[in-house]
Amino acid sequence: MAQQPPTQPNQAGVPLLDVNRDNGPHREEFIEALTDVLDSGRFLFGPDVTELESELAGYCQVPNAIGCASGSDALLLALMALNIGPGDEVIVPSFTFFASVSCITRLGATPVFADILPGTFNVDPESVESLISPTTKAIIPVHLFGQCAEIDRICQIAGEHNIPVVEDAAQAIGAAYHSRPAGSWGAVGCFSFYPTKNLGGMGDGGMITASDAGLADRLRLFAGHGMRPRYYHQVVGINSRLDTFQAAVLRVKLRYLGDAIDARTEVAARYDRLLQNAGVIGADAITLPVRDENAFHVWNQYALRIGSGRRDELRSYLSERNIGSEIYYPVPMHEQECFQDLEFRHNGLVETERASREVLNLPVFPTLTEAEQRRVVEAIGSFYAAAARAAA
Ligand SMILES: *Cc1c(COP(=O)(O)O)cnc(C)c1O
Repeated sequence: MAQQPPTQPNQAGVPLLDVNRDNGPHREEFIEALTDVLDSGRFLFGPDVTELESELAGYCQVPNAIGCASGSDALLLALMALNIGPGDEVIVPSFTFFASVSCITRLGATPVFADILPGTFNVDPESVESLISPTTKAIIPVHLFGQCAEIDRICQIAGEHNIPVVEDAAQAIGAAYHSRPAGSWGAVGCFSFYPTKNLGGMGDGGMITASDAGLADRLRLFAGHGMRPRYYHQVVGINSRLDTFQAAVLRVKLRYLGDAIDARTEVAARYDRLLQNAGVIGADAITLPVRDENAFHVWNQYALRIGSGRRDELRSYLSERNIGSEIYYPVPMHEQECFQDLEFRHNGLVETERASREVLNLPVFPTLTEAEQRRVVEAIGSFYAAAARAAA
């Protein structure tokens, strides 16, 4: 079989992500699985979809899993199935990806923005609690970067007020809190198979988990045009399906998800060591990712905090050396242009705003090599060394 051409022509560079390198070792298995779907002709509702749903239900330790077209649809369907609409408030962090919030506004409901904890970048349970009102109809904690939010505390607060929790676990498949999987804590768990996620497909895909059989049934109903039986529409649903090709690919990848998480964990530990040895950790420079001791982190992202207002300067320096990095996320949701004419509420988002100025995400993927990580960290070291010389 022909070798894949190298995806990074510049030897000295480090890609933010290299999907081909990660997928390469499983190429034959993908081709076999995709060929089976092609030959079956069952491009929708094929057996791989049902199989994947039951495998993922097992993996996440929930009785029900429902495939859908994307993580964004998973969130939208969750709120639809919970009957959320105009006049309802939904509490969500502002420091997240857009889809955690657009699902709320799309249904005419009002987002209420909670602040985050400075260490983990995850939503602050105390902030969530302080924002609860008589019209709060759901809470959407986001398990950011692959580490669970303090979901035990959030579910406890929500439970006291009888408010359903919808976990945005798009970045956190395989993560856990107190050994209990992401997506199994709330009324609904939402996952994404976008190619950059830990279980990434070859296109779009998503999944919804639900413990309650009645709610799972409603989620399925809403994902299928609200149609039951055929051509009789009980509710106004949407069309949101996981196709059989994606399910076939994801079943292959699911077999290696544990190995991929182990490799990501190793990458994160190596960055910690290398950055510590480079002497760039400290109040004036870099803060390493903070691990919650109760969380099993799956490292979808390795997120540094860069102090002294130097983040953008450092990022340009890396980019000039062909070293990939990203800012997740530069503009918090309460500052997005599309939400400026909207009524929304919060009670101070100091940590959210600081995080969007300071966060910097380094390359992390299972096949990232130690040599590449050394190049990333050496470049960071030389940035600070040059800055120190300039200051002297
Ligand atoms: C990726 C992501 C989504 C959306 O998933 P898609 O499959 O791309 O629609 C939602 N929330 C978070 C936090 C994400 O990272």
